[in-house]
Amino acid sequence: MSTRFQRRQEDFACTHCGTQVGGDGYTNHCPACLHSQHVDVHPGDRLAECGGLMAPVAVEQKDGEYRILHRCERCGHQKWNRAAAGDSFERLLAVAASRLGRAMQAEPDFDRRRAAMVAGLQEFGIHDDAVLQAFREVPRHLFVPEDVRPLAYENRPLPIGLGQTISQPFIVAFMLQALELRGDEKVLEIGAGSGYAAALLGRLAAEVHTVERLAELADNARRTLEELEFRNVFVHVGDGSEGLASHAPFDAIISAAAAPTVPEPWLAQLAEGGRLLLPAGDEGGQELQLWLRQDGSLSRRRLGPVAFVPLIGKYGWVQSG
Ligand code: SAH
Repeated sequence: MSTRFQRRQEDFACTHCGTQVGGDGYTNHCPACLHSQHVDVHPGDRLAECGGLMAPVAVEQKDGEYRILHRCERCGHQKWNRAAAGDSFERLLAVAASRLGRAMQAEPDFDRRRAAMVAGLQEFGIHDDAVLQAFREVPRHLFVPEDVRPLAYENRPLPIGLGQTISQPFIVAFMLQALELRGDEKVLEIGAGSGYAAALLGRLAAEVHTVERLAELADNARRTLEELEFRNVFVHVGDGSEGLASHAPFDAIISAAAAPTVPEPWLAQLAEGGRLLLPAGDEGGQELQLWLRQDGSLSRRRLGPVAFVPLIGKYGWVQSG
């Protein structure tokens, strides 16, 4: 899909539905129609030839001007670029502080940034008070590697190691809102990643089980959740495409990785009255599906196009490369 969000100073218009996407100038989901996949350049970012995002990894001052080293998150291609007019000093400082080890001139005010992120979510149509409150309470910056911490409250996915990403806050909020949790549910998440979405779920439900196939990520997520004293969130290592039979049934199931189609064990482990959210499709295109089990029968709603990493496993995709 080659449709792009187009750049207009600080605003972008989704060419699919025309909605203005303002603010940080970076999105991979239009908040209105969820049209995805294009990731437009953030001030300071570039797109590599492979289509991957070239994020700034270092900055230096030379002959009175800033130069930024960009590295593609996908293919590793590196290039020094002159700082563009749109590159904010704050961003350059953040990059410099994180990658070059220089002290930041001012302590980043994460609380203020988190509040701004929540205001942005509201602007994009997230209205569920409990969901917004969860986003206010969970410190996203503590779930991402230190070098990308200055970017933690931007509405963008970030690398968390091993080729995986923490999802964009907007899409997480959208999915949590669609689950319509009341607080007494037992929830299964597939794809713990950083543990951030599981932490949010921990604020919205009674008990959360999250499964991650990569043990190193699961360990990091568990450590962060323990440090933050999330006592109702449990991290499991394994193939989440098989669900988690030992703790079934679940009132809600949510997947952070895209399956070819809904894995049969997830439906089997979904309780009566339960809601199941998953991205279905491949890297060429996915749609967010909401499955409901009501009065003994299953129904499916399509919530729009999205872009997630693949679900690798028995009922998912086979790992390539
Ligand atoms: N919810 C996460 C986002 C993680 S991205 C967060 O808030 O940070 C999706 C994750 O799904 C990746 O960490 C990936 O390793 C994991 N994953 C992919 N296939 C999986 C499978 N079969 N079982 C469990 N986790 C899987």
